[in-house]
Order: sequence, then structure tokens, then C-alpha cells
Amino acid sequence: MKAKLLFSLFFFSLALDLALAIPSLDWRAAPAALAGWYAADLASGLVHMIMDYKPCRPGTGLRDLYFWPGPRDSAAFLAKQDEVYARISRFERVVYDFKKHHPFPDLLGRHSFLHLMKGPTFVVVLPISLVLNVAFLALRPPGWLPVGVVVMLLGAAMSQAFHGALHRDDVGRTLRALRTARLVMSRRAHQAHHDSLTQDFAVVNGWSNPLVNLCASVLLRSGALGKDGLEPA
Ligand SMILES: [Zn+2]
Ligand SMILES: [Zn+2]
Repeated sequence: MKAKLLFSLFFFSLALDLALAIPSLDWRAAPAALAGWYAADLASGLVHMIMDYKPCRPGTGLRDLYFWPGPRDSAAFLAKQDEVYARISRFERVVYDFKKHHPFPDLLGRHSFLHLMKGPTFVVVLPISLVLNVAFLALRPPGWLPVGVVVMLLGAAMSQAFHGALHRDDVGRTLRALRTARLVMSRRAHQAHHDSLTQDFAVVNGWSNPLVNLCASVLLRSGALGKDGLEPA
């Protein structure tokens, strides 16, 4: 119920931006939409890169969970997981989930598209979208700007859902068509990330990966990103 309300608020917020854009819409909306789609991909790549390498707080028990030697559906594992998750913050859990995704990539694909949209949408994108509603209502910018912003917000909200679909066999006709049009990235392109863990962090369309890879290589070489952060200490 709460999720339905928040999703409704999010889509209303996007619709309001588009309604404000309509009176001054022109050809610039098309490049703005493409730029918005690129920006969503770039945001997904930069966040993914930082989360993969951000070290987990030592001594929380996350390392025991990560390297658990037995079955992960056992009562012992689930009890330990509850105990550890109760000890860490929501943000630490998100950081851990990024790391856990590498040894267990297919877990992400088990969740539905809408379920994977909840985190990015409710925690990050919806508050930004509401603030931008107020700004656009006050400033009435040219129509291309809200259009680009709506596409960016929508892409960012769906970023983890697109990532989940990269770890699922059956993604449906719409996503397959978007992949054929190169508007959404392919499984093979994302596998390059899982093979190296040092590149190709973006998960929406992959257009920003050359730029994200440049950032990652500079940060890794300078030591700002340390390989130790890839696994819980
Ligand atoms: Zn990763
Ligand atoms: Zn992945």
C-alpha cells in the first residue's frame, strides 16, 4: 500500500514536469531526452563503482556471511544473517548487497522489476523529483529541460531493475526490443563487469562506460579505490 502510494506520487511528479514542458516543447527535447538517458547511465555507473569499493565496517559479522561455508538457506545461516543485519545500518546493508552481488549475481534477477525500483526510487529519485517540481513550477524553464530531467529520473529509478534484468533469462518483449535498439545494455556487455570488477559499472545502457572506466582506472591507480573494499573485512 505504502509502495503503491509512493510510486503514484513519483509518476505524478514526472507527469507534472511533462505538463509544464508541453507549452514550450521543441526539437531540443529529443537531444535532451538522450542526454537524460546518458546521465541516468552515468549515475548508475558512478554509484555502482563507489559502492563496490566502499569498505564495509569491520567486526560487524558481514565477512562471516560473505564467506559462509555451508548452505545459505540453512537455519544457522538465516539466524546469523538476521543477527548481522540488525547490527548494521540500512546504508551499510546496501553497500554489502553490492559486494554480495558479485559471488551471487543471479540472486538479483529473482526479484521483480517493480521491487528493484523501490530502493532507488523511494530513497533517492523521488525526493529529487519533488524538489525539481517546485523549481520548475517557480522558474518555468524551456520545455526541453523538464523532458531531459524526466528521462534521467526515470532511468535512475529503473537502474537497479535494469541490472536485475541483466541477471535473468526471460526479460519480456519490451526490454528485448530496447536492447535491440541499444537503449538498454545487453547481458554480454554487463558480464564484462563481473569478469573484471574494475570496469563497466554502468547498468542502464552502457553509453557512459568509457567515461566511468576512465574514472575507475584513475581512482584505482591513485589508491582512492582500494581492492580490499571489494569484500567485507
Ligand atoms: Zn559490481
Ligand atoms: Zn551484475
